[in-house]
Amino acid sequence: MQVLKVVATKIEFQKLKTFKFFILLVLSISISTSYAQIDSVFINDANIWGQKISVRYLKSGVKKLASKKMLGRETSSKGELAAIKYITKKLKSYKLEPLGLNYIQSFYTGFSSKKKNDYYSYSDSAFNIIGFIKGSVKPDEAIIISGHYDHLGKTSKGIYFGADDNGSGISSILEIVRIFKLAESKGFKPYRSIIFLFFSGEEKGLLGSKHYVENPLWPLNKTIANINIDMIGRSDSAHLNDNKYIYVIGSDKINPKLHNVVNEVNQSSLSLNLDFKYNDPSDPLRLYYRSDHYNFAKKGIPVVFYFSGLHSDYHTPNDVYKRIEFDNLLIRVKLIFNTAWYLSYNPLNGFNND
Ligand SMILES: [Zn+2]
Repeated sequence: MQVLKVVATKIEFQKLKTFKFFILLVLSISISTSYAQIDSVFINDANIWGQKISVRYLKSGVKKLASKKMLGRETSSKGELAAIKYITKKLKSYKLEPLGLNYIQSFYTGFSSKKKNDYYSYSDSAFNIIGFIKGSVKPDEAIIISGHYDHLGKTSKGIYFGADDNGSGISSILEIVRIFKLAESKGFKPYRSIIFLFFSGEEKGLLGSKHYVENPLWPLNKTIANINIDMIGRSDSAHLNDNKYIYVIGSDKINPKLHNVVNEVNQSSLSLNLDFKYNDPSDPLRLYYRSDHYNFAKKGIPVVFYFSGLHSDYHTPNDVYKRIEFDNLLIRVKLIFNTAWYLSYNPLNGFNND
C-alpha cells in the first residue's frame, strides 16, 4: 500500500463518474441489462477447489517474503532480486505459462537511488512478474489478479519486512495460482484467460502498474477486470471482534456488473462482511487511489481491490510474519479465489463496453 499523498485527483474521479454515467446509459438502452442469476454450478466448483487452499502454503509464502533474506524487497535492490527469484521459482514449479520473457517485464524507474556505504546495488530498473493460464472458451479475454511484491527495504530503523504489505497478497496469489493449475490438471480449464501479475515499484508511486497499463502484454480492451490484493493479513481497530470481514474498494466505479458479481459470489459462498467504508473516493484515507488497481481504473478497466485495513505496524519494521492472522487470511483468499473463478467461468459478456 502506497503512503497517503495529498494530491488533487477530483478531476480524475469526475472523469470516471462521467464514464460510469455513460456506461449506465448504454446499459439502460441495451436489452442485455438484466443480470444473470449467479450460476451455482460455477460457485460449487469454486467452493470445491477453494477448499484446497492451504494455510500451510500461505504461511510458507509470507515467511519467505518477509524473511531477512528479502531485505524488505525495495524496488531495484538486491532484496527485489531475491523476491523475483522466489516468486518465479514458485510459478515454474506450478508450471504457469510465462507472459513476457521468463515471466519478467522490466521497466525504467526514472531514479537511481544508490545509497552511500550501503551494500545494496541499486539500479534504475525494476521488474514486474507475469504469468497466465490460457482460457478454453474465450481465450482472448482475460482477468488480471494482481498484487505488489515490493516494499520499503531497509533504513537505520531496520528491515521493513512487509509481511502484511504485501507479503500477504503475494503469498495469496501464489496459492491461487497453485489451485487454478491443480484444477486445470484435472480438466477444469477456465473459460477466460487468467493473468497473474506481481508488481514492483508500488511503494515508490504505483510505478509497476503504471508501466504495465502503458505497455500491456495483453490488450487492455480484452482485459475484462482487475482483482487487486494489497494487505489482507491483519485486522484494523474497527474490526477487532470481527474475523469475517474484508474491505472492498472500487468494484462499483467502472461497471456495475463486477460489483454485482463481487457481492453475489460472497453471498452464495463465504458470506464475509464486505465493508465498503473506503469505497468512497472522497474518504480522507483515499484508498481507492493508493494501490495498483487504480492504474487499471484510469484506463476504464473494471477493478476490485481487496484490503483488510491499516494498523499500527503499517510501514514500520514491525509488519512481521508472526503478526499475520492466518485464519483470517485463509477465508479472505477463499473469497477472492471464488470471485476469480466465477469471473473466469461466468457466462456474462465482457465487463468493458458490451
Ligand atoms: Zn505499503
